[in-house]
Amino acid sequence: MLQREDTKLVSVKPGFNEIYMNLAVDLAARSHCVRAQVGAVLTKDTRIISIGYNGPPAGTHNCDEEWPDAGCARDSRGSCSLALHAEENAILYAARNGSKIEGGTLFTTLSPCIACARLILSSGIKVVVYKDSYAEYKGLPSDEGVDFLKRFGVEVNKY
Ligand SMILES: [Zn+2]
Ligand SMILES: [Zn+2]
Repeated sequence: MLQREDTKLVSVKPGFNEIYMNLAVDLAARSHCVRAQVGAVLTKDTRIISIGYNGPPAGTHNCDEEWPDAGCARDSRGSCSLALHAEENAILYAARNGSKIEGGTLFTTLSPCIACARLILSSGIKVVVYKDSYAEYKGLPSDEGVDFLKRFGVEVNKY
């Protein structure tokens, strides 16, 4: 009995990884994308500096409302041609507001695509934590975004 209480006490306090990944999952649900919903949280020194979810730039399109049946126009890879990815939105918002991204940690519900991986590396983010695999979602043989980041010194961890 006493031991159960102890276990409970420990599990009551969530770690930052858990808090930020839960937030990323909640943010993903705000996406208007008809196919994939992805959320991202950008942190620095355990504090949040930006958030994002996938979708066209604010004030332009809500794909699910404008094209509820067919969905929006697709690019050559089958993704929304109008949308910024969650990671792009999080990074761009931080850049626009003058937050220092370098040395940050990015939490994302889906492992970064190669385009986002390039942006993550270039913006100086040091750690990426992802929940689900983009390769598995797309049916690709390897997670090229993750491979790219690891090859060039970014720490990537599956949540
Ligand atoms: Zn779309
Ligand atoms: Zn991406």
